[in-house]
Amino acid sequence: MIEKIHPIPAFTDNYIWLFKDSASNNACVVDPGDAEPVLAYLEENGLNLSHILITHHHPDHTAGVAKLLSRYKATVYGPSDSPFKNTSERLQEGDEIEVYGLKFKIMNIPGHTLDHIAYFCDASSGSPVPTLFCGDTLFAAGCGRIFEGNPAMMYESLQKLAELDPQSRVYCTHEYTLANLAFATAADPENTALQERVIAAKNKRENDIPTLPSSIALELATNPFLRCSEQGLIKSAESRNESTQANAVDVFTTLRQWKDNF
Ligand SMILES: [Zn+2]
Repeated sequence: MIEKIHPIPAFTDNYIWLFKDSASNNACVVDPGDAEPVLAYLEENGLNLSHILITHHHPDHTAGVAKLLSRYKATVYGPSDSPFKNTSERLQEGDEIEVYGLKFKIMNIPGHTLDHIAYFCDASSGSPVPTLFCGDTLFAAGCGRIFEGNPAMMYESLQKLAELDPQSRVYCTHEYTLANLAFATAADPENTALQERVIAAKNKRENDIPTLPSSIALELATNPFLRCSEQGLIKSAESRNESTQANAVDVFTTLRQWKDNF
């Protein structure tokens, strides 16, 4: 069992998520791009690092691993076929791992990078709420840039996440929410759920509270990249592109290019 999932801020806008075993002083971190804030938190709270989960190879997700391993004997889970090699177990779609009695299913979600995986624990797997660690693929009100894949690949990966239990809590890596919401508002101006989300997110940031985790339900209602079949977004993409959008992947491609230059 886990008690709660704690954000350790790193760099300017990363969160390194940490959860501990309720039965011991063991802790697990997700995507430790920087070892220092993790070491400080572990020492302050008398914790032992037993597990590290990696979603993809980018240095702001992996650069802290070597130093953490020099201090703690942790099992490092990460994607197979990845430029990041410092893993003890390499994972791919369909694999399952167990951490503190929680069973996480592995999903391949390429697009941001080709090696990108997500860790999903559903409600029957020991977690009181379904929990998703999705790195830089699905963000609160946005999605990651496409560095290694193509738009159709990224769209398909996001659709896989969109089909998870709507109650699932979404733990992504960056606090990009306000900037994402500004774009979402430009692309989907008549969405009232989105307008409410902007107010709630601004309140949180003004009080220095993370806007994460999000939920799949909230993303389905407000994230333009999960709403490419909605009339409002089709219309926005068509006026942006000055052409008819044949399908949801075309709408997604237009929105992603628009956001890259927003
Ligand atoms: Zn990344």
